[in-house]
Amino acid sequence: MHFDYDSGRFVQTGSGGERPAIVARDRHLDWTQLQREAEAWCDEACRLGLGADMPIVIRGHKEAAFMVALTGALMLRAPFVPVDAVYPAERLASICQILDAHLLYDAAQGRFEVLREGAGTPLAEKGLCYVMFTSGTTGQPKGVQIGRESVQGLIDWMRLDFGLGERPVFLDQTVFSFDVSLYDVFGTLALGGTILMLDRQDAASPLKVAALMAEHGVTTWVSTPSFAQQQLVNPGFTQAALPQLRTFVFCGEPLPVPLCRQLRKRFPDVPLLNTYGPTEATVATTLLVVEDAMLATDAPLPIGRAKRDSAVYCDEGELCIAGPHVMRGYLNRPDLNTTRMFLRDGQRGFRTGDLGTEAEDGLLFCHGRIDDQIKLNGYRLELMEVDAALATLPGNRGASAVALRRPNGAVARLVAFVETGSDDPALPAELADWKALLAARLPHYMIPSELLPCAQLPVSVNYKTDRAKLARLYETLNA
Ligand code: AMP
Repeated sequence: MHFDYDSGRFVQTGSGGERPAIVARDRHLDWTQLQREAEAWCDEACRLGLGADMPIVIRGHKEAAFMVALTGALMLRAPFVPVDAVYPAERLASICQILDAHLLYDAAQGRFEVLREGAGTPLAEKGLCYVMFTSGTTGQPKGVQIGRESVQGLIDWMRLDFGLGERPVFLDQTVFSFDVSLYDVFGTLALGGTILMLDRQDAASPLKVAALMAEHGVTTWVSTPSFAQQQLVNPGFTQAALPQLRTFVFCGEPLPVPLCRQLRKRFPDVPLLNTYGPTEATVATTLLVVEDAMLATDAPLPIGRAKRDSAVYCDEGELCIAGPHVMRGYLNRPDLNTTRMFLRDGQRGFRTGDLGTEAEDGLLFCHGRIDDQIKLNGYRLELMEVDAALATLPGNRGASAVALRRPNGAVARLVAFVETGSDDPALPAELADWKALLAARLPHYMIPSELLPCAQLPVSVNYKTDRAKLARLYETLNA
């Protein structure tokens, strides 16, 4: 059994209704139960006035009902707007206001909330699949509108090029308000698989993560590299203990070479997929299957090549994306749509704000955000490049550079943190020579003035390394 995205219907192919569809901490649902619950969800939503093109805000945190609601919204062609419960009420309120949404589904309570009386209002943009809110520089979240055709492209890409095999079992750890989680949602539904949802409590324990993966036979790992890095403290995170694992899919931040080497050692037969792309272009746009030869040196990994139906190229050093998977625009932000979007050969295009290059063989590279580029004493440097050099220090630990700023915003100094796995305030002995080791790779102005140990690098709710938190940590240490 699987869910046909195009028609919005469940398709019964022989038996299979009893196979697990959703494994969440609160409940497990097989495919027949998912179908029944999604249909009941639709009935209730229709009774409350939800229809095609009307946004439905879904709030919660990894409950089985969250996935049921996402499925129901697909059946009704009502664009879903996932908001994880980790976000404050104020952010939720501003999202509901920007959407002028009349209905919210609370997955933790298992019930709808009517936000305002009267009929639901369809969005001006028709045929959307979802609206994903990302942080905006003005403090107001921006609603990225993704069309139904864009998601069809994502599903086709996963089916044809990811090598996921039959009925994949997805590890679903990223919050639903981060679009990387949609690999798991659409992959599970379209391929008749299973979604194993980890809540924050389970995700925080590497032992628990591995135990759940083994118990439910996870075949497809999906996460940011930071989350995978955290699992390495568990010596049992190995192919021998997780023989069902078939694929690692990474997205959301640079995939460090040292992490790949460690994963290769522990999972010699499991392919590592590096995928890249902003939310504005439906989860991801480029794909690289990491080859052993790419791990022979410490040179940063490419992000691969553009997916079949799209184009990725560099314009004045900036990565630009064109194709049917580019968003229909930010909701109610004509100002941004004018500056960030364009048309190319009749297709929608988006300027990513990422620095990129293309090698002679067509492989693409992302060198970080244009805005992660800093000026220090007149020198221009990329924090990501410093991170990449730090990652090659002995021990292959996670590490991150942080720009400390003066009140006027100017960068005063560069420092770095390295993950040690312990609260010991001293650097591990093997890092005693860190400055000399970095000097072999980096020009003097890119070498941090201090390297500080920290038990674990802080990550954002999306499990990307959080430089702002590191800067605050530095202030506390020096208060
Ligand atoms: P988001 O919209 O939160 O998914 O963030 C997208 C941004 O994360 C991209 O524009 C890149 O700056 C960064 N990013 C995502 N995936 C990768 C990757 N595989 N390698 C390097 N940077 C990445």
